[in-house]
Amino acid sequence: MDRDPTIIPLFTAEEIARRVEELGAEIGEDYAGKNPLLVGVLKGAWMFLADITREITIPHQCDFIQVSSYGSGTESTGEVRFLTDLSTPIAGRHVILVEDIVDTGLTLSNLVNRLKEREPASVTICSLLDKPERRKTPIHIDYLGFTVPNKFVVGYGVDWNEKYRHLPYIGYLEF
Ligand code: 5GP
Repeated sequence: MDRDPTIIPLFTAEEIARRVEELGAEIGEDYAGKNPLLVGVLKGAWMFLADITREITIPHQCDFIQVSSYGSGTESTGEVRFLTDLSTPIAGRHVILVEDIVDTGLTLSNLVNRLKEREPASVTICSLLDKPERRKTPIHIDYLGFTVPNKFVVGYGVDWNEKYRHLPYIGYLEF
């Protein structure tokens, strides 16, 4: 049987909590009076969304969307297929897309374009992680947690074949 990979730690639970608190405060200031809708991209962003919503003290709502992404491999196709759609109409709403990681950027740029067809008042991006070395299409991340090296990262909601999602910290896999 194959050995499990080693996890090399990148960010501790405490470091993540501090950064999430800062991002939540920033969003609260920027969106005062706007009643934004946080849209968590499943599954990777659920833990991040659960934490950041508690750091945003202005009124806001949360919803989720699930799109096809890596499957069990490690290469993105960028093609967006809605596996679970929003339960909220977004026309005229200020939408904040909450992502786990921006890698090539293909998934997110496609997703933003698809959501813009529904005529929201605005769409911004809040991503826990950014892997800029792999970018294939330009993406502006409005609220960013951490930049990571070109490694396969896991933990804090982010998985490898459904493993390691539950870890309270973020690390990368060494095979
Ligand atoms: P993109 O279209 O930007 O290449 O892909 C973004 C999606 O790929 C992320 O939302 C995430 O689901 C997945 N992904 C990209 N890099 C990693 C990584 O290092 N680890 C894990 N677990 N997923 C990743």
